[in-house]
Parts: sequence; structure tokens; C-alpha cells
Amino acid sequence: MSDRMSLFCLNREDYIKTVSRIVREQIEAVGEDPDREGLRDTPERVAKLLRESLRGYCAEEEPKVTMFENRENYDEMIFDEGYFYSYCEHHMVPFFGKAFVAYIPDRKIIGISKLSRIVDHFAARLQIQERLTKQIAEFLQEKLEPKGVAVTLHARHLCREMRGVKKYNSKMTTTEVLSAFRTNPLTRQEFMNLVQNRLNGD
Ligand code: ZN
Repeated sequence: MSDRMSLFCLNREDYIKTVSRIVREQIEAVGEDPDREGLRDTPERVAKLLRESLRGYCAEEEPKVTMFENRENYDEMIFDEGYFYSYCEHHMVPFFGKAFVAYIPDRKIIGISKLSRIVDHFAARLQIQERLTKQIAEFLQEKLEPKGVAVTLHARHLCREMRGVKKYNSKMTTTEVLSAFRTNPLTRQEFMNLVQNRLNGD
């Protein structure tokens, strides 16, 4: 971790002060009055939102992964569906959507609520969707040592929608599969079918 990054993680107030100053300058740069009522607290609000949105850089905010022994020898797919919000690293605007995470346990299982916390953690960084997908899958593979992991993200990118051709509600899909999901086409197909069913249900 760089020095600056540890400052971000350990000295929250300092980060908020620095970023507030920069945001105030941005407001001034467009010729707006940063002291008028509606804008007065904006720099600090933006800084606080950024601090929260980028907390995934801090190891101390990494979710505690409580695992249990797989006593029943459950060996079918465990599938979870949730939402995520991340920041595109090219434009620093959100990309967000659905996250599908599945694994086939070996010796360990994880509380289902933890899966979405892991997604949240890696999403709270400056990201590209491909890397986010990979980071979630690799983290689970490392911690859980399961027979396989699969992650699909299905997301809207505001940078794509706001600029240029303005394609409203266009979505991008990325998938990362490891171990059994990679080697066994049927397992992979089972996962992709579940994802497709959930997406069609929207
Ligand atoms: Zn972008």
C-alpha cells in the first residue's frame, strides 16, 4: 500500500479536507459561486461520498470472511444474486448493476450474506468491470478453496450513457469462471442458465 493510500485509510478527516478543497475549486472553475446556499456544503458532501465509495482500498475494511466446515458434504452449486455500485476508473462516474456469484464448496462454506459484502468491497474502488469480476472470483477461490467459482456482472455504465451516443440503459456483461466452472461445461452451463433466468425475470 502506498503512503498516500494509508493516509486515505487511516486519516479520513484529512482526506475529506483535501478533496473538499479540490471540489470547491471545480465549482469555481465553472464560474459558479461556491458560497451560495445550494453549493455551500457540496464539496464536503462529495468528499464524503467519495470516501465511502472508495473504501475498498482499505484492507481494514475488508469483510471478515466467516467460514464453516462443510459437515454435510454439500457439493452442489451455491448461487447468490445481488446489486453492486462501482466507479469507472476512466471517468470516475458509477457503473452499477447485478452481481451473480456462485461456488461449489469443498471443505468450507461461507455465510451467504458475506458474498454480497465481498462484492461491495471490491466494487468500492476505481475499477473496470472486467477486473472487478476477476477480483471477486479470485478472492473467493483463495479464501474458500472451493471446487469452483463463477462470477457474472451485468452493469450499466454512466460514462457510456451520458456521453456521445447516449445509449440509455445499455448493459455490459462480464464473467469469470474458475476451476470446476472452467473445466466442466455442464457446470458452467448450469450457472449461465441460472443467470439468464434471473435476468429474464427483470
Ligand atoms: Zn468510463
